[in-house]
Parts: sequence; structure tokens; C-alpha cells
Amino acid sequence: MPELPEVEIVRQSLEVRVTGLKIEEVKVLTPSVARSGEFSDFREILLGKIFRAFKRRGKYLIAHLSEGISLVAHLRMTGRWVYTTPEIPVPKHTHIIFVLSNGAELRFTDIRRFGGIDIVLTDFLPQYKSLTKLGVEPLSEEFTSEYLGALVKNKKLKIKALILDQTRLAGLGNIYADEALFLAGVNPQREASTLREPEIIQLHGAIREVLEKGIANKGTSFSDYVDGEGNRGQNQLSLNVYGRYGEHCNNCGTTLAKLKIGGRTSVYCPLCQNPE
Ligand SMILES: [Zn+2]
Repeated sequence: MPELPEVEIVRQSLEVRVTGLKIEEVKVLTPSVARSGEFSDFREILLGKIFRAFKRRGKYLIAHLSEGISLVAHLRMTGRWVYTTPEIPVPKHTHIIFVLSNGAELRFTDIRRFGGIDIVLTDFLPQYKSLTKLGVEPLSEEFTSEYLGALVKNKKLKIKALILDQTRLAGLGNIYADEALFLAGVNPQREASTLREPEIIQLHGAIREVLEKGIANKGTSFSDYVDGEGNRGQNQLSLNVYGRYGEHCNNCGTTLAKLKIGGRTSVYCPLCQNPE
């Protein structure tokens, strides 16, 4: 599932490739994925519009178009936004194709169809429901260790569940949450309120570190994730715990354990991430 680093990498590649290009044609292959909202027709409203900028908020990718129109895309589990040429065969599960003024295509594909693209007035974005619910951006200046300290204060829920909660912290998913907790030496099932100040400072730094490393490594590719041009990332090669259940801890050699928190599997080192 794309998390903050993967969406950021797609954003960066689309910004370079697609900014300034005009939409010459829109092929809607799956109408339920092309959500026109208050506008009558998805295709009609987008014809002739120019891609002005690509932004990211949490795991959402936002394209600003000319004439005050924006597209909000959530990649959910398996969504992809890929810039390619028309000679490349259209893969199965392609739902929307934007034909661009340089002859290239921007395709939205999603095997599981949970994702989608919404048309929103750019002026309305600050009030757009899915975005207003999002918590702080973990790579922004606003996210300090004091901020994390306030988030965990008096919270009974497990620290892993807390940092996965998009209304508190936007963009972290299972991979980067497990990696950050390992780096900070914090057990995923610790009750959030029990974190001591040094651990909060460690975890704050670890969250930023794993996300920045994920971006520097062009994202984590286990199955579906590819960047805006269809390239796989490299971050899966340097993970410490995620996907490594039963293997040895890179720090201490202990066999990595797993447990379920809120339906999600957490992999951790029972020695480095002491439950106390
Ligand atoms: Zn260990």
C-alpha cells in the first residue's frame, strides 16, 4: 500500500513530467472511479485544462489544474498514477486515461478499485472532507517531539495504533510505522501514555528518519507500488523489521516476532523493543 514516501515519489515524478501539459482527451473506462462531484460530466469539465502543480497531503495526491479545478486521488491499496506513452499497452484494471498535449498519457489504474479520483474546486480544497480530517504532516515543521508528546498524553491506545491513525498523523502506514518503532526501540503494543520523554524524542526522530529514507530510496516496492513512471522503489532492500518476521534482528540477532494490532500485523524485535 502506498504510504507517504511512495505518494511523494509519484508526486515528484508527475510534477516534472506533467506540469504544463494540457488534457486533450479523457477516457473514462470505469465511471465509478471518476467522481465528478458537483460537476455533471467528468470528461467534459477536464478537457482543455492544464496541469499546474502536484501536491501531496498524507497519502492523497492532489493535481491543481487551470481554471480553479483540482483532482484529488487516493491510491488506497493498489492505486497507481503512471505517466507513459500510448505505445505501451493499456494494462488491465486501468480506469481513467488522460491524453496529454505532448502525446503522452497519464493513466490511473487500480486492481482493487478502492481508489478513485475526485474533482474539487481548488478554492474548496481546504474544506474538502477527506483532507480536513487529516492530522499533522510528519515531515512538516509543525510536527515536533513536543507535538508527539501531546498526541500520546493520556492515550490508552497502543502506540502503533496511534501513529497509524491518519487523523492524528497523516501518511504513516504499516511499513513505516513498524520501521519507526524499531528504530526508536519502542514496542508496538506499548500503551501510548506510558512512553517516557526520551522515547518520545526517539520516536519523533525515527518517524522522520524512516520517511526521509523511504523518499531517498524512491519508495518501498513489495507488490504493486511503482513511481509516476512505472519504476520500482528500492526501500524494501533496507527494511529492518517489516516483512522480516522469523528472520534475525539486524541489531542483536534475536528472531523477530509478530503480533496483531487493530487487524494489522506488526513485526518487531522482542529484545530491542522491550515491552516494558
Ligand atoms: Zn534486536
